[in-house]
Amino acid sequence: LIDGTAALTWITSFSERFDSTQAYLTELDRLAGDGDFGANISSALERTRAGLPSSTDATFTTVFQAASRGFMATGGTSGPLFGMWFRDIAKSTRNDTASVADVAQGITAGLGTIQKLGGAKVGDNTMIDALAPASVALTASAERGSTLGEALLEAALAARVGAESTAGLIAARGRATYVGELARGVLDPGAVTIALFFEAGADTVG
Ligand code: ADP
Ligand code: MG
Ligand code: MG
Repeated sequence: LIDGTAALTWITSFSERFDSTQAYLTELDRLAGDGDFGANISSALERTRAGLPSSTDATFTTVFQAASRGFMATGGTSGPLFGMWFRDIAKSTRNDTASVADVAQGITAGLGTIQKLGGAKVGDNTMIDALAPASVALTASAERGSTLGEALLEAALAARVGAESTAGLIAARGRATYVGELARGVLDPGAVTIALFFEAGADTVG
């Protein structure tokens, strides 16, 4: 189970990991996009931190609702997609805490929402290349009876492998389609950010 305090720690750790990777992710978006990825996500995280509930009244849902609002109001393609994803994660439970099955359900529902909105599938060189395998790994692990920490670790490993796979891809969605073959060899920054999110969860959630 994950309560509001643990969810706060997860989001805070994600934010810190993003900060230390921001320059690199911006460089990836500069090579295969328009170079605003770091600024977009960083402003989303700043709004998220400002909107987070205090640890005394945080619940799983209010923490992910704050993340959703912070990301939704972001320029660029990735912000609203992350915002819709966090919205589905927030909705996965009606209790103050979420179970591993709730989290897996919310993450999978959010994947479906992103795909419905953006039309990307695995292999299109987007965040979906990390999120889809992570979602499968998380769900399988939850069904085996893993703790949330164990399930997030498996999801993180799958997300990282998926993010690395984008080096071999050219884009079929998003701005990286404009550079065609030049995107080959460049990791997709959205996919790397998905890996950072699951790695933050695996390291902070028990
Ligand atoms: P923009 O391209 O509008 O400047 P960002 O730089 O904020 O947007 O985000 C780029 C990221 O958005 C990419 O790395 C990719 O992961 C993700 N992305 C772009 N288009 C899509 C899509 N149709 N579906 C899912 N993710 C997408
Ligand atoms: Mg961009
Ligand atoms: Mg842009």
